[in-house]
Amino acid sequence: MMDPWIQHKTIWPTEAKFMSWVRGGIRAGLWKKHPVKLEFLRQNTILTVNTNPRSMKRFPMVKAARCALCRAVHSIKDIEVDHLTGNHSLRSMDDLRAFIEAMIMVTFDDLQLVCKPCHKIKSYAEKQGITFADARAEKHAILLIKGKKDVTWLEERGMIPASNQVGRRKQIIDALKEV
Ligand SMILES: [Zn+2]
Repeated sequence: MMDPWIQHKTIWPTEAKFMSWVRGGIRAGLWKKHPVKLEFLRQNTILTVNTNPRSMKRFPMVKAARCALCRAVHSIKDIEVDHLTGNHSLRSMDDLRAFIEAMIMVTFDDLQLVCKPCHKIKSYAEKQGITFADARAEKHAILLIKGKKDVTWLEERGMIPASNQVGRRKQIIDALKEV
């Protein structure tokens, strides 16, 4: 059997493109509506007082859940299910069985609810090989610099901002890590 990325070069120019299509299909088809995942989400959903002035009159209570990482309660639309042991790669057809198994044989112990910002930080930490706390500090520093709030942030904390961005970034990260 000829590999599809060789036989259909105009559809998938590379094996990586083909595997990415397979990965997306499995995620969308099996993972997105996995019954165990949805049941986990349902069991951990709580009702909380709606504080959004736009909708609080119509919906006094809204669905929410507690983030396993920052421990804060977030509206359900800002909550994602994190698959703790789901980080299997799918780079070739040989990975297929392990990849699908990890995804479909999921149990409640493999799952946790996290808020979107924490989920991003966790992924970043895993990619960079750093701790969650360090990743959070780095992300926060990047955000402050982007919003041009880094100088004020440092001054407000009694620090003398470094003359360049790299220096200020390091100052912010160090300050956040101390907390
Ligand atoms: Zn969180």
